Amino acid sequence: MQARDKSAQLFEEAKNYFPGGVNSPVRAFKSVSGPPLFIKRGYGCRITDEDDNQYIDFCCSWGPLILGHNHPAVRDAVLDTVVKGTSFGTPNKLGNQLGKLMIENNAFVEKIRFVSSGTEAVMSAIRLARGVTGKNKIIKFEGCYHGHVDSLLVKAGSGLATFGISTSAGIPPSFAQETIVLPLNQPSILEEALLFNEDIACVIIEPIPANNGLLLQDLGFLRYVQSTCYRHKVLLIFDEVISGFRVGFEGAAGYYDVQPDIVTYGKIIGGGMPVGAFGASKEIMGHVAPEGNVYQAGTLSANPVAMAAGYAVIQELLKEGFYTELEEKTKWFTQQIEDYCHGKGYEMSMPHVGSIFWVSFSRAPIQAADQIDAANMEKFKVLHHELLQRGVYLGPSGYEVGFISTAHSRTDLEEAIEKICECMDIVFSNES
Ligand SMILES: *Cc1c(COP(=O)(O)O)cnc(C)c1O
Repeated sequence: MQARDKSAQLFEEAKNYFPGGVNSPVRAFKSVSGPPLFIKRGYGCRITDEDDNQYIDFCCSWGPLILGHNHPAVRDAVLDTVVKGTSFGTPNKLGNQLGKLMIENNAFVEKIRFVSSGTEAVMSAIRLARGVTGKNKIIKFEGCYHGHVDSLLVKAGSGLATFGISTSAGIPPSFAQETIVLPLNQPSILEEALLFNEDIACVIIEPIPANNGLLLQDLGFLRYVQSTCYRHKVLLIFDEVISGFRVGFEGAAGYYDVQPDIVTYGKIIGGGMPVGAFGASKEIMGHVAPEGNVYQAGTLSANPVAMAAGYAVIQELLKEGFYTELEEKTKWFTQQIEDYCHGKGYEMSMPHVGSIFWVSFSRAPIQAADQIDAANMEKFKVLHHELLQRGVYLGPSGYEVGFISTAHSRTDLEEAIEKICECMDIVFSNES
């Protein structure tokens, strides 16, 4: 492993141009050590930084790259499309193709609208829910991330079922007050909040919360949320920007067989290009302009290059056994590491679902954000640093999950398992 001098230099330069030297905050490596890596190339499960160090990548661009980097089918689709022009601001056939594929193989949505990011999908879904119900307030859950939408950058205020307070400057308190933040996995509190407030348009949840650790919910809770929303005539939004097409073609809705009213997608559906989408029944989507009166638009929405990339990826996902194979590989990977660590008595576990995993420095199941001990992030910092030295890249925060792609072969994973176990020895060496 070579030094990371070039990344360090480029980061110093970048600080002149961008706040904190980055264009999205977690990239700055603030919760781990050293300068962020400047990556110049990716192929399969490996990425190469500007200093020519190679890493097995478990971040996978934060989730979109379910086929790994630079997949030939995706690259060819993009290249074939880009030579004909990149955007026309008109409908195009590739959009139809991707839309058709997504809808015909998904029992949970009947119509969709493409946008350019997950945040945009969520923002539009919330507006749609408000437009359909004529109500204003929304309920979200602590520990779920929904992009940087104003009214969703909110955490719980004092006391349960109270109005939220913003977690970012620049959000008027009056916006934050339209959001009620509840704890995950506590059914009675949701019922209470819905009884107490008449003005709720929707409940939004990550059915597989994967942005604050991996907070796997009980199926019973998800079913309860669904039936309670139905009883109170409140729309249920599944934010599937991360879980959609990741745990199965029909996302978490299909995985758990729970029908939400509106679903948001992103990440995987763009195949590494900027795409998001929201979908619902024909009736609900009929409220979206120009059919209905909920306005939503986008200059680059469904541009042909992004549609071509998305189509190339989504097609692969429909192949027989795609998801079972990926899930088995993930199970095996996490089991190997857990077996090693538990054999040594280390306090850790690797919760996983589909091809998502998380390194938790606890053996207890964690289902809510406040069960994560922030002090354990020091352990993650050591792990991250030691893994970089050995050529394994995890997302630079202990609250982030990892992803396994079809490009991670058993041999690649064996190499990673060995290195991760070696690093766990270092992480826990001060303890014994
Ligand atoms: C990533 C993510 C978003 C935001 O998507 P962007 O494309 O980063 O705007 C929203 N919701 C969930 C669940 C996500 O994982």
